[in-house]
Amino acid sequence: MTRRPRIAFLSEHSSPVAVLGGEDAGGQNVYVDEVSRNLGSLGFDVDVFVRRDDTTSPDVIAWSPGVRIVHLEAGPPEFVLKDDIWPFMPVFRDAFLRFSVRDDRRYDLIHGNFWMSGWVAAQLRHKLDIPVVQIFHAVGKTKQRHQGSLDTSPAGRIAIEHEVIRSVDRLIAQCPSERQELVEDYGADPAKVVVVPSGVNVARFKPSDRLKIRQQLGLDPDAFVVAYVGRMLPRKDVRNVVRASAILMGQTEAPVQLLLVGGETLEPDPVTTPEIGELQRLAHELGIADRMTFTGRRQPDELRHYYCAGDVAVTTPWYEPYGLTPLEAMACGVPIIGSAVGGITFTVQDGETGFLVPSCDPEALAGKLHYLLVNPDERTRMGHLARLRVEREFTWPVVAERTAALYRELLQPLVAPQPAISVGVDSM
Ligand code: UDP
Repeated sequence: MTRRPRIAFLSEHSSPVAVLGGEDAGGQNVYVDEVSRNLGSLGFDVDVFVRRDDTTSPDVIAWSPGVRIVHLEAGPPEFVLKDDIWPFMPVFRDAFLRFSVRDDRRYDLIHGNFWMSGWVAAQLRHKLDIPVVQIFHAVGKTKQRHQGSLDTSPAGRIAIEHEVIRSVDRLIAQCPSERQELVEDYGADPAKVVVVPSGVNVARFKPSDRLKIRQQLGLDPDAFVVAYVGRMLPRKDVRNVVRASAILMGQTEAPVQLLLVGGETLEPDPVTTPEIGELQRLAHELGIADRMTFTGRRQPDELRHYYCAGDVAVTTPWYEPYGLTPLEAMACGVPIIGSAVGGITFTVQDGETGFLVPSCDPEALAGKLHYLLVNPDERTRMGHLARLRVEREFTWPVVAERTAALYRELLQPLVAPQPAISVGVDSM
């Protein structure tokens, strides 16, 4: 008799339970949530291990069929910036081992997320002799290259990433450029790297009646609305979007409105989200403050309205390992203009589902915005193609199928019941 394979999903700072849109909660949380739930539907038992960051959550949450979220004590039970979590990772590792003993649960495979959980996964691979699949979501060298002195990652990050890449059985890259980073920047064995593009929830993100939504949100039905959804961080370069909008406003008599969704709090607050303060200052300087609407962060179920309210969505980060927001806009049938970096060059088809523009180039972005402003038929055509592309290529059940295929290559045939485990943490 075979049993369901048991997967340990390690994701120290990104929990499916987290509220999204703030500094440290974005695409990785969505990935962990969607992939684990879809793997549960495919017959895997998945335990998602996250660091406890409050005192109220139960140790174990039954999240969805086959999926549990396990809170491990590692460091103070409160929010800690992800760049300050690294010292707690040995404790996280040991707490994992204690949990698996206490719960009498032997895992068949570990799926590490981000470099810190990757380090734990690599250690456990050695200790437990089970295969490890690793996805980084973002790597330190790229971050260092683009952020320079703004990069607050711990000093040892890149060396640890090298170690993880050497140790694990498979590396998931979300797009060809991430594969290239792993192989060329880190010397990963190309045979270990598998491209599994991440997806979007097409039942949650779907087209809807633009005018009705604008009415609900109190937006001008006749304006050309440019929507940005995402974290408010310097590297997302929303300032570039503000500058481009100011250029556009100088080129047209048509009413243009900029809708900005994201931040630490439900109300836009420049104190808790300094980047909102920067954007407000810039907008005042450019004389367009009255044409901008900040909403603060919104939960995934509400986001569709904001994408659908837009005539176009934009995202022009300095770099983007993958980028879920372009796919979400596309799923809502909205054309997307994105910077030609990282995963965006893979998901957005230039001239078909939107446009690719150079990063840090407000003139180029304004040019494409103007084109879409004066060509409503093109907006409709691109929005339609965008939705089709997402339905065909980028859905979470497909991501989970591909991930499951990868697991199956590595898993030994499973026979129940398994012998009881005895795992000491002292020797680690
Ligand atoms: N997001 C959200 N609420 C917000 C802003 C963003 O739920 O107010 C979500 C967004 O829908 C997307 C994720 O956060 O799923 C951001 O992922 P992405 O890969 O685009 O960028 P990251 O934040 O991981 O750099």
